[in-house]
Amino acid sequence: YLIHSLGEGGFEKLEKLGVIKFLETAKKQGKIGKIGFSFHDNKDAFKKIVDAYNWDVCLIQYNFLDETNQAGTKGLEYAAANGITVIVMEPLKGGILAGDVPEKAQKIWNKSNIKRTPAEWALKWVLNHPEVTCVISGMGELEQVKENIKVANETTPNSIPADEMKLYHEVKEVYNELMVVDCTGCGYCVPCPVGVDIPQCFELYNQKYMFKGSHSTVLYLGNLGGVTSNKQAHAGLCNGCGKCAKACPQKLDIPILLKDVSKQMEGRGFNYKVKLGKSVIFPIFNGVLALNTKISKLRK
Ligand code: SF4
Ligand code: SF4
Repeated sequence: YLIHSLGEGGFEKLEKLGVIKFLETAKKQGKIGKIGFSFHDNKDAFKKIVDAYNWDVCLIQYNFLDETNQAGTKGLEYAAANGITVIVMEPLKGGILAGDVPEKAQKIWNKSNIKRTPAEWALKWVLNHPEVTCVISGMGELEQVKENIKVANETTPNSIPADEMKLYHEVKEVYNELMVVDCTGCGYCVPCPVGVDIPQCFELYNQKYMFKGSHSTVLYLGNLGGVTSNKQAHAGLCNGCGKCAKACPQKLDIPILLKDVSKQMEGRGFNYKVKLGKSVIFPIFNGVLALNTKISKLRK
């Protein structure tokens, strides 16, 4: 049983509310097996929480881009040294480390004699740590389940050789150069009172810098501008109230970052482009699709 997202000061508050006593009673009664917490804050807060109670288990964010972020490697080692079972979440950093990796990063993975998918590389890195007991990764397809099982079966702690470790460092450099916003897509910052889809704004903004082409700008106009989604959720709507920033485990200054997103992704005449997209481009696109479907049916 994990207490969700404990951070600085959170433990004292829960203790005062009687949560620990409640969990201990539940454990004694056999209703739960282990008492733990999940965590999104800095490593100082993590150490304080670890020291505050005799925990069985904790859940931390950890991947090869987050070695010094949040609990980080120091937190992982500290928890394990204190006899706490560590489960890792976000091994693919919200999917950023899987799928469409930047060309420059892929070229580095390609230097290896062993061919692996980007997800395999990322999972392997986490599993290589002896302090990690379990890795949880969101899976949407059976292939991903099979891939994850394969990596877990193949990887034992401290099994990554030095030449492969070098590749991780090089890939990390590439991501650090390209990523503009360190957002994991966790979604704790939403809903926004004026409807900004904050995680998607940051995802498409990062994609603009990580991948070639105008794919992210088109998606931004369609999904967030409301051309295809019929609902506006773009960064330009933000009124700077700051509600979201208080909820962000990565401590991002969301309102300020959204200003950059708006400037780079929307620019001048954004609403005009949305109008044009809605009234001309989208109907033409839909018309072409409908025509294609009819032609295919006639051919059959
Ligand atoms: S600061 Fe902007 S994005 Fe954040 S909750 Fe307020 S309006 Fe929404
Ligand atoms: S901005 Fe912060 S809270 Fe929102 S999705 Fe990104 S990391 Fe999570």
